[in-house]
Amino acid sequence: LPQHRDFTGADPLTVLKEVYGYDAFRGDQADIVAQVVGGGDAIVLMPTGGGKSVTYQVPALVRPGTGLVVSPLIALMHDQVEALLANGVRAAFLNSTQSPAERAAVERAYVAGDLDLLYVAPERLNLSSTAALLSRGRLSVIAIDEAHCVSQWGHDFRPDYLALGGLGEQFPGVPRMALTATATRATHREITERLGLGDAKHFVASFDRPNIQYRIEPKVDPRRQLVSFIRSQQEGGSAGIVYALSRKSVEQAAEYLRTQGIDALAYHAGLPAEMRARHQSRFLREDGVVMVATIAFGMGIDKPDVRFVAHIDLPKSVEGYYQETGRAGRDGEPSVVWMAYGLGDVVQQRRMIDQSPGDRTYKMRLGQHLDAMLALCETVGCRRQNLLGYFGQQSEPCGNCDTCLTPPETFDGLVPAQKLLSTVVRLQRERNQSFGAGQIIDILRGADTERIRQQRHNELATYGIGADLSDQDWRSVVRQLLARGILVAKGDYGTLALGEPAAAVLRGDEQVPLRRDVMGRPASAPRARR
Ligand code: ADP
Ligand code: ZN
Repeated sequence: LPQHRDFTGADPLTVLKEVYGYDAFRGDQADIVAQVVGGGDAIVLMPTGGGKSVTYQVPALVRPGTGLVVSPLIALMHDQVEALLANGVRAAFLNSTQSPAERAAVERAYVAGDLDLLYVAPERLNLSSTAALLSRGRLSVIAIDEAHCVSQWGHDFRPDYLALGGLGEQFPGVPRMALTATATRATHREITERLGLGDAKHFVASFDRPNIQYRIEPKVDPRRQLVSFIRSQQEGGSAGIVYALSRKSVEQAAEYLRTQGIDALAYHAGLPAEMRARHQSRFLREDGVVMVATIAFGMGIDKPDVRFVAHIDLPKSVEGYYQETGRAGRDGEPSVVWMAYGLGDVVQQRRMIDQSPGDRTYKMRLGQHLDAMLALCETVGCRRQNLLGYFGQQSEPCGNCDTCLTPPETFDGLVPAQKLLSTVVRLQRERNQSFGAGQIIDILRGADTERIRQQRHNELATYGIGADLSDQDWRSVVRQLLARGILVAKGDYGTLALGEPAAAVLRGDEQVPLRRDVMGRPASAPRARR
């Protein structure tokens, strides 16, 4: 191992050069480091691959004491610590995978002041023994990585994160940082509030990845579509990742690709460790390898020249989609991400949500994540604009996504939109009620359910006026109207209300183009339940 050097009080840029071998800070890195070295708190929203690590590692080296890094990704801690040790940084971790003797050694090193960085899993940090240990040494900075895990509405909530709000009182005077690659407004606000970072400076990087081209298409013949996409991308023997949701679907896709002459390898948690390691190393070292994997693959894998990422199953959230597609083109060179999705995906995911353990609020949240994902799939507008808008960032149509390059075929959705909006209006005016999409669609389709009868919704003037469209089509109309703000979903239950442009739609003054390719399936009989 390289000799450890003491950088206490050193110039951050010198540390960057000598420890990491980089020439300059990128983007906001220098400002973030300056804020924290100066003792201030920071909230850092930066996309994956943006370079968050050095923003807490450099201050940890420059300030006296040990930098505490809270990270939930135990699997990655080991790699991160190895990489730091290789750069001459004295790093260690504390987690449940260690033996008591290993832990004791790390604890001794910390108390003796022999550590620059200490990685700890949140559940361990919440043990009183860990709090006692930390107070026996000296902390230079507290970095809370994957800070979006504190958000109960996020896609990755972890209850242990809620207790991290107390760190400020426990360690007054130690600058704290919250870092994440998730930047929705709601998450940002929750991080600020729940982690007690009211005085922090906020650093919000652009989430745009201009070198990535976004493409999403409906599933017709998914295997053939995948093969032709990969062939179109692989002329120069470039590497790519194909993401699937289940182990079975990973294995089947990899096998099929091999029969088509594509050098595809499978990767999922159910494969022997030795095989996973072999596949990973071939992917990293050889040209033109296509890794077919579950989403577990890619975290912490630093391969800058991944030229394409394909999704053959619909991701569960826009955050997930963004993170996974973000593994393409980290070198800044043109890259393409492609996804095929179909009705089957939607049905399967709704079923998974229904059957998942967890209370109603939890299921609502999963449903909202799925809806946001579908809104991205079904948008008539620019994919990138939709994606960045989801993360709270405004942009112009990009010219580098499928909908910009080949605008989708649309039809005039004014009439269905008006039917839907007037149902919402009537419920509000005549009954002073608001409902979620399910009940509104049941009214439109003239469904005979207990709830319809109970609420006497069959007496509404709009009852049954939408029987010409299927349940799925109506859901698509709802999502497309939500995506354009014509409808807004409110509260924990996602009850529908009119958005600002709705008045113009009801008057017929506003066009409502809807995507042809995601609609127009034959309507089956309205459902009767119970
Ligand atoms: P994040 O945690 O935001 O996903 P990382 O900290 O892992 O990102 O950094 C992503 C990649 O960028 C890594 O390969 C890292 O070595 C590289 N990197 C980070 N900062 C710089 C810099 N200032 N100059 C050059 N490369 C950098
Ligand atoms: Zn675009």
